[in-house]
Amino acid sequence: MKKDYYDILGVPRHATQEEIKKAYRRLALKYHPDRNPGDEKAAERFKEISEAYEVLSDPQKRAIYDAQGHRGLHDTGYRGFTDVEDIFSAFSDLFEEFLGGFGGFSRTRARERRPQKGADLSYDISLELEDILRGKEIELQVERNETCKACKGSGLAPGASPQYCPTCKGRGYIVHSEGFFRLSTTCPTCKGLGTFISDPCPQCKGTGKEHVVRTLKIKIPPGVDDGSVIRVPGEGEGGLYGGPPGDLYIRIHLRDHDIFQRQGKDLWLTVTVPVSEAILGGEIEVPTLEGDLEVKIPPGIQPGETLVLEGHGLPEYGGHRRGNLILKIQVEIPKKITKRQEELIREFGQIEAEKKKGLFKRLWNSMKQGNS
Ligand SMILES: [Zn+2]
Ligand SMILES: [Zn+2]
Repeated sequence: MKKDYYDILGVPRHATQEEIKKAYRRLALKYHPDRNPGDEKAAERFKEISEAYEVLSDPQKRAIYDAQGHRGLHDTGYRGFTDVEDIFSAFSDLFEEFLGGFGGFSRTRARERRPQKGADLSYDISLELEDILRGKEIELQVERNETCKACKGSGLAPGASPQYCPTCKGRGYIVHSEGFFRLSTTCPTCKGLGTFISDPCPQCKGTGKEHVVRTLKIKIPPGVDDGSVIRVPGEGEGGLYGGPPGDLYIRIHLRDHDIFQRQGKDLWLTVTVPVSEAILGGEIEVPTLEGDLEVKIPPGIQPGETLVLEGHGLPEYGGHRRGNLILKIQVEIPKKITKRQEELIREFGQIEAEKKKGLFKRLWNSMKQGNS
């Protein structure tokens, strides 16, 4: 049995990207092989947390995992990491960020200048129940690195071409020897690229990226659910060296409603009916997502009984059907009554008692007849 990724990182299922990264950082520093030399258990744990992080930090993989678990990921061909070196090369940037200044851990490999797809981005948004009834156009402020327009992401000034980095001779890392230890760190001149730009693009200073904040208008379709993930292709970070941009993933959180309780596509509402109306029947006004509605209360309704208003629940994603609004009946017994009301209730009680006596007598008589 494979362990749950959320359990492995110790984060709740609705954790944000930031929380997931924080949890991974804490565990990665603890179980890093360089801090636990020769400890097989720590290495296993390091692999386990890295796989959990790889899946949960990738909105697409996370969505598949949330919906279909390990099985679903396996079916897409996902196999995790084969060894620790695999993890270092996949997360080299991340470890540099985690360990900034700590040194000795950054076993990065030279990255080539081949086209790289931009990173995917993930945002969390909260919606009201009313928003998912008809769908909603939201405005989302997205902070991202786009491909520099001047150099198209190459980082080169017009007409220039990259050269092998003189510091690391194209390897992307440099090796320090300290006694027994040989530590490799990312080359400071080329930042691990292995190539060096002597004539950088004046617009982006050779990074190939430009940092921007964009306001995107995004249509959220009706019927999305709590935890649904919407993919907006091409709205992630810009690609490098001619690579395409990444995608944007929006994770939906539904806010609790003041009045309605949500259960799948159905909404539940507790309504209080005066005792006289529960006995005689009547009409009450009930709130729905689309305004108030007159609802008939049948005579003799019991406390706890439910009335179903078909089609007044939440819409189905991509479908035409809607859930129901289910009214749970509560009967209000007055705490204070007038003298006159008391007389009437007493008389009511007497009649009820006589009705029961009569019923009992009739039952008794019919039993006697049946016996003879
Ligand atoms: Zn270098
Ligand atoms: Zn540029």
